[in-house]
Amino acid sequence: MKTGDVHDKDIEDILAASEKIVFFGGAGVSTESGIPDFRSSRGGARGLYRGYAPEELLSASMLREQPEIFFSYYRQNLLHPQARPNRAHQILASWEAQGKVLSVVTQNIDGLHQAAGSKTVWELHGSVHRNSCCSCGKSFGLKEIIQSTGVVPRCDRCGGMVRPRVVLYGEHLDQAVVEGASRAISRAEVLIVGGSSLVVHPAAGLLHQYRGDCLIIVNRDETPWDTRARRVFRGSIGDVLEGLARKG
Ligand code: NAD
Repeated sequence: MKTGDVHDKDIEDILAASEKIVFFGGAGVSTESGIPDFRSSRGGARGLYRGYAPEELLSASMLREQPEIFFSYYRQNLLHPQARPNRAHQILASWEAQGKVLSVVTQNIDGLHQAAGSKTVWELHGSVHRNSCCSCGKSFGLKEIIQSTGVVPRCDRCGGMVRPRVVLYGEHLDQAVVEGASRAISRAEVLIVGGSSLVVHPAAGLLHQYRGDCLIIVNRDETPWDTRARRVFRGSIGDVLEGLARKG
């Protein structure tokens, strides 16, 4: 492992030649779009939320037992309708269009990879853009949740509670998504991991599916996988991907 900078000939050559790159990302991919990552947003449990950890506020039991508190926190902290894709999202989408990136596996729920144009995106933790009624199953988009009058969104067909199809604490990941993401990672020649502390499980454990010898990590802080990486870029994901895209 070597902590390299963007002018890294070996990595540039590999990336230029590869048509089997998979990107695995986390909250750090969206910080340059103005969405705080998990670590920065942990301090937010004040006022109404005093005494609750974010893990409790965003849990299945909070949604079931105290939906007003759940949705109030969710709306304030997880919905960022003004956020737009940043350089990292755009570069990954253009690499997919060029036939270099096979897919993106993300822990994010913000939908910004698709907004940038990425087509094959495995959303391990679901998406704020998908919502459905707990009673009748009717589907709703993000706009309808934001525009709903009460704190707890209600179905216009049956009056049931509408919940986001995001994976809450205490819930399992969707098995089909996990299998798709695992398959993608296992087929990757190059695996670029960016903007993730790699401490949230089971998502981070999917890295064990990688069989190649070119793991690249781009993260501002250290991760438990750094020692296994061929290169670690300790910088901004936008800067690093832009540098690599320019050279490729
Ligand atoms: P994390 O907050 O645990 O780690 C983010 C990592 O990204 C940190 O190590 C940080 O150093 C790094 N980072 C931040 N900005 C960066 C940048 N511009 N360039 C390079 N590195 C940067 O995030 P995680 O590992 O994804 O786990 C947190 C959990 O919280 C996930 O399950 C995720 O679903 C959820 N979450 C999602 C969003 C979102 O959808 N945008 C936002 C917050 C949290």
